[in-house]
Amino acid sequence: MYLIILGPPGAGKGTQAALIASKLNINHLSTGEILRNAVKNGTELGLKAKEIMEAGNLVSDEIMIGIIKEALATKEMKKGFILDGFPRTLVQAAELDRILDELGYKDIRVLNITIDDKELIKRMTGRGRKDDSKETVKQRLKVYKEQTAPVKEHYDKKSVVFDVYGIGNIDEINTKIYKILTDKSN
Ligand code: AMP
Repeated sequence: MYLIILGPPGAGKGTQAALIASKLNINHLSTGEILRNAVKNGTELGLKAKEIMEAGNLVSDEIMIGIIKEALATKEMKKGFILDGFPRTLVQAAELDRILDELGYKDIRVLNITIDDKELIKRMTGRGRKDDSKETVKQRLKVYKEQTAPVKEHYDKKSVVFDVYGIGNIDEINTKIYKILTDKSN
């Protein structure tokens, strides 16, 4: 199964993606995790990404596309994957279409987690992450609205998007997602 999980920061994408990945035995590819690890390890990528992430902005399309291209080209991905945190811009989405096409991946499904702003801010300021300060959270939401929300429309046009309401208990939401994914008519 080849999946993309979309939704605003703080909607629980990472948590749900990890659960789905282990349930379906597919790879969980989180660009945020890759970047946080790079920062932690002080790699060249980490040094470039650190300040950008802490300000709540997006790392350049060029860098992110390079990361995802390399990751998706590995054999390991053939068994399935869930992309979490990518694509985040229309440029990334268009490039991902090309990469998946080139690698022969078909039938990509998109899960869109929906949630309202008030709840988002509450959740995001309570996670204890470096990029969770109030100012950064505001900036991340702004960036989401301006640059990432159009990505959903990109996939809407291809009619492969399943919306899931993201408020409630983690297991309940996961069960809803699992049902959508395993329903043969989808
Ligand atoms: P996340 O864990 O997905 O919320 O990502 C944390 C941060 O990493 C984001 O706020 C961005 O600064 C950066 N990031 C992750 N994925 C991307 C991406 N696809 N494009 C640009 N920046 C990204």
